[in-house]
Amino acid sequence: MQEVRDTDVVIVGAGAAGLMCAFMAAQRGRRVLLVDHANKAGKKILMSGGGNCNFTNLYTEPANFLSQNPHFCKSALARYTQWDFIALVNKHDIPHHEKKLGQLFCDNKSIDILRMLLAECAEVGVTPMLETSVETIEKTEAGYLLATSAGPMRCQSLVIATGGLSIPTMGATGFGYQVARQFGHNLLPTRAGLVPFTITDQLKDLCNELSGTSVDCLVSCNGKSFRENILFTHRGLSGPAILQISSYWLPGQAVAINLLPDLDVPAWLAQQRNDRPNAELKTLLAERFTKKMATLIGEQWFVSKPTKQYTHAELEQIAERLSAWQVVPAGTEGYRTAEVTLGGVDTKEVSSKTMESLKSPGLYFIGEVLDVSGHLGGFNFQWAWASAHAAAQFV
Ligand SMILES: Cc1cc2nc3c(=O)[nH]c(=O)nc-3n(C[C@H](O)[C@H](O)[C@H](O)COP(=O)(O)OP(=O)(O)OC[C@H]3O[C@@H](n4cnc5c(N)ncnc54)[C@H](O)[C@@H]3O)c2cc1C
Repeated sequence: MQEVRDTDVVIVGAGAAGLMCAFMAAQRGRRVLLVDHANKAGKKILMSGGGNCNFTNLYTEPANFLSQNPHFCKSALARYTQWDFIALVNKHDIPHHEKKLGQLFCDNKSIDILRMLLAECAEVGVTPMLETSVETIEKTEAGYLLATSAGPMRCQSLVIATGGLSIPTMGATGFGYQVARQFGHNLLPTRAGLVPFTITDQLKDLCNELSGTSVDCLVSCNGKSFRENILFTHRGLSGPAILQISSYWLPGQAVAINLLPDLDVPAWLAQQRNDRPNAELKTLLAERFTKKMATLIGEQWFVSKPTKQYTHAELEQIAERLSAWQVVPAGTEGYRTAEVTLGGVDTKEVSSKTMESLKSPGLYFIGEVLDVSGHLGGFNFQWAWASAHAAAQFV
C-alpha cells in the first residue's frame, strides 16, 4: 500500500485558475498540492491572445459575463479586480500595453504570465505535479481522499480547476463536470463559445472569395450587439464581432450583420441617387468596401445599375441587405477552436463568496468549469483570477 499524502488543499488543474489559487492559498499558510494530467502547466495561457496573452480588461464588469445566474460573478470580481491583477503583473515587471477596448496584452509573449504564476507558486513552495491524473475521489469525514496516479492524497479542501471542454488537444476534459455530478451538482448544458461560424453552401463561395477580408460591422443576435470586425474565412465567418456574438447564438437562429454601421443606409442611398444619378451601385459600394467585396456583393446580391434606375422599393431592399444582412450559420467550429465553454457547473449550488459547493462541504469550483463565461477581451482570465482568489481565502 502506498502511503497517503496528507495535505490541506488539493487543486486539480494547473491552468490559470488553479495556479492562481495555489499560491494564494499557500500564502495563507495552507499546504497545497496542485495536480494536472498534462505535461505542462498553463498550456492555454501560452496559446492565449494569439501568443501575447490578453490577461485582463481595464473595463471588466459583471455585464461582460454570461451565466444563467448573472449575479454570481459580482462578488468575486469586486474582491479581486483587474487592478489587483495589473499590480501583480507590474510587481513582476511584465511589459504590457492596451491593444484596444481596454484589452491588456503582454508586449512579449504569454510565457511572461505563466512564469509569473509559477514564480509566485515556487516562492510559497508549490510545484505543480504534472502528468498526474485523479482516478477516484471519495468524501471522508474530514475532507476528501483521492486515488491518483502519484498515489493516494488526503485533503480538507478539494478545488476543481479543470476548465471547460475547449481545445481538447490542450488537455481539456469533462473531468470537472464528472466530479460535480458525483457530488450531486446540477450541470447546465455546455456549448462552444467565442467560436467561428461555419456557413451553408449558399455562402461558401462568398466567404471563399473574400477569405482574409475584414470589415468593421455591427453584429446582432438575441438582443445583443457587438461593434467590431468580422473576418471572412475559407470555413465561414470569424473575427472578434463573430466570436462575441457566437456566445449568444443558438442553432437555427439568424445573425444580423450591419456592414455599414456608421451610415444611415437608406438616407445615404437616397442622397446618392439624388446627387449621382449615373453612378453605378458597384461604384458606390467600392467607396465603402474593398473593390473585390464591392464587386462581389454588387453582382451577387444586387443588379448593379446607375442609381437613377432603382425604384424606391429596390433601394430600400438594398439598404436592408447592407444594414441587416441576415446570416443563418450552419453551425460553429465547436470545441476544436472555441476559446471558451458556455454552461457548466450551475452556480446556484456554489457559494459566490467562497466558490465552495453548497452540496459537499470542502469542495470548490473555480474558473471556466463554472457556468460563468466572459466576452472576448481578457474577461475569461479575469474570471479565472477572481474566482481563484475568492476560493483561496477559504480553502
Ligand atoms: C486559443 C485560446 C485563446 C484564449 N485567449 C484568451 C485571452 O487572450 N484572454 C482571456 O481572457 N481568455 C482567453 N482564453 C480563455 C482562457 O484561456 C480560459 O478561459 C482560461 O484558461 C480558463 O482558466 P481555467 O483555469 O478555468 O482552465 P484552464 O486554463 O483550461 O486550465 C485547466 C487545467 O486543468 C487541466 N485538466 C483538465 N482535465 C484534467 C484532469 N482530468 N485531470 C487533471 N488535470 C486536468 C488542464 O490540463 C489544464 O491545465 C483563450 C482560450 C483559448 C482556447
